[in-house]
This record gives sequence, structure tokens and C-alpha cells, in this order.
Amino acid sequence: MVAYSNSRINCFYQCPYKYKLQYIDRIKVEVPDTIETYMGRLVHEVMEKLYKDLQYQKKNTKKELLDYFEKLWSGKWSDKIVIVKKDYTTDNYKDMGRKYISDYYDRFKPFNGIKTLALETENFLDLEDGNKYHIRIDRLACNNDGNYYVCDYKTGGRISTQYDLDRDRQLAMYSLWVRQKYSDAKDVKLVWYFMAFDREMVSERTPKQLEGVKRDIENMIKHIESVSEFPTYKSRLCDWCKYKQMCPHFKHEYELKEKNEKEFKEDDGVKLVDEYTRLENEEKEANGKKEEIKQKIIKFSKQMGVDVVCGTDRKASIKSYSRLEYPKTDEFMELLKKKGLYDEVVAVNSTKLRNKLESGDIDIEVLVNLKAEKVWSLRMSNREKK
Ligand code: SF4
Repeated sequence: MVAYSNSRINCFYQCPYKYKLQYIDRIKVEVPDTIETYMGRLVHEVMEKLYKDLQYQKKNTKKELLDYFEKLWSGKWSDKIVIVKKDYTTDNYKDMGRKYISDYYDRFKPFNGIKTLALETENFLDLEDGNKYHIRIDRLACNNDGNYYVCDYKTGGRISTQYDLDRDRQLAMYSLWVRQKYSDAKDVKLVWYFMAFDREMVSERTPKQLEGVKRDIENMIKHIESVSEFPTYKSRLCDWCKYKQMCPHFKHEYELKEKNEKEFKEDDGVKLVDEYTRLENEEKEANGKKEEIKQKIIKFSKQMGVDVVCGTDRKASIKSYSRLEYPKTDEFMELLKKKGLYDEVVAVNSTKLRNKLESGDIDIEVLVNLKAEKVWSLRMSNREKK
């Protein structure tokens, strides 16, 4: 049995290699908090205090909550916390947190609407395959009409669209757990508070839609558990990846940063890539010259009215042909099929076929004799020098 969470599943689809390091090899890497994470976590703690105290009939004033936030901020502060956006200071971020709490307080006071049932839950939803799904609800609440509310606080600087929220899987899975646990639940609303925008957004799902979400999650897990290779997926998220220094994409770069000039020049990788670059440049230059001479030979053949031009040991044959341009559309492919030409003229796209093979989209019997041979490619690009 494995306990899957939304972040675990997302991690796999963001980068299988990162997933392997984090969840299979369980490699621990100490990474300092960013100030955004720090501020967000403290705002969550203030929200938890607000509703926990209310359960004990203790109503905090806005000032008391803001003082609590200040106390947390200074009590937990570490100089290791990273501020990536250099235009903003620690105080800017603290003021953002204060504003989020203040706006939220003004919007929902006197807090006598829906009743809180649980805060920061630690539960699990059973999945068909015997695995479990981690249920971590910021706040679960209900009213007297059998409406339940799965509430999530968002402290990031981006707001989602309704389209995205209506497809969100995380809170949908939470609501499935709510329906299982609370049999009186007539309706479960998924509620996000985008605190930076003082905006509440709601999404609802039918039981049928929820079953579909659960099935999708189970299929994703099935796929995760079936793979034996964990390739790297490079993306803009790599800048926030705690395994960047161990990643095959960036490891050599980091190693070189540690070397002095002499060590750098003597590095085998640097020497090989520099040699390859030199040869590539020579090849480019030679290809340019080759094309120039080719055009001159063609011109010569036309002027002389010949189609074979002789050299000392070899000869050049010149032949003209027309390059065919055709539409790469489905309609055109259909037309070829109708005319019975498709099988004759359309070649197999090996990249697409390999992807289908790897994703398990093709029936295995069809693939009995298909083998994917491992080949290596090399693509050159410029190094970013910071
Ligand atoms: S740095 Fe990027 S490619 Fe490398 S493991 Fe992390 S997310 Fe994957």
C-alpha cells in the first residue's frame, strides 16, 4: 500500500526523474524556505488558530490575529529564508501576509456562518488498487442544510480560472472522502480563497464526475507504478527543483562551478565538448563552401550544356527534380486512403510509434516483433553563463 497525494502524483507528471529521487530513492535534500512559502505557511497557521479558537468559543479580534502572525513571523524567522525577487524586502512579504489576514477577517467576520468540522485533516481515502489518497483539508465546514465545504487557502500571487477549478482533482478527491465519511452530506462545495485577491471561488461536482476523477487518479497511479524508466523532463520548474544539483541536466554545470580555471580547462567533459564544437564549426564552414561550389558546378553544367562534370578521380552528375509540397492535413491523408495510395506512400512515424509503445497505447500483440533500440543523440546549444 502506498499513500499517494496530489503533490506526489503531480511530481511524477512534472518530472519522473525528480519523482524517483524523492519518492522511490527517498533522497533527503535540505532546502531553505523561500519567503513566499514561509509567509504562506504562517498565514495558514493563523487561519487554523482563528477557527480552532472559535471551536472553543474564543473569538479573536483582527488585532489579536495580526499580533499572532507577527509573533510567528519573528519566532520562526531564519536568515536562511530565500528572497528570490530582489526588488522586495522581508517587510513587503510580511505586509502581504498581514493584508491577506486582514482582508479575510473583514470579509468573514463575525464568523457565524458555516460550522468548522475539521482543520488541517490527516486522513486517507481508500483506492480500488489498495493504495490510499492523502486527505489534507485546510478547513472542512458544514451548515444545517447538509451542505459541506472543503476550503483551501491560496497565498500565491496567481489566481486560477473557473475552468481550471472545475477540473481540479485535489479538492474533488477530498470531497469524495467527505461524501464517504459524512452520509448526511447532500452537497459538497469546493471552495478556494485566493487571499492575495480577497476572492472566494467555488466549484461543485456531481457524484458521477467524482467517480470519474477517482478513476483518473487510479489510472495515473497504475501508470506510475508500471514504469521502469524515469526520464528527466526539463522545464521552467527546474529552477525550483531541490534535486537540480544531482540532475543529469545540470550536474556537470554545478561541478564546473566548483573548479578553478586550470581544473575547468582540464575537465574531460569540457575538453570533449570544446573539440566537438571546433569540429562542428569546421564542418559548418566546409558545408557552406560545399554548397557554394555545388552551385558553381550546377551553373557550369548549364553553361556547358552537360549533366556530368568530371574531376581528376571523380565526377559530378547533375539532375533536376521537383520537390513536392503537400498539405500535412487529415483531409489530405483521407484523400490518399480513398484513392488507395495511403499504404504505399505514407511512411511510419517512428517517434509517434515509440511514444505509443512507451505509453502502452498499442495492443501488445501488435507489438510482438517491435523492439525499441536505444540510440543516443547529441544536440549542441549555448551554455548560460551567469
Ligand atoms: S532539475 Fe528539472 S529535470 Fe532535473 S530532476 Fe529536477 S525537475 Fe527534473
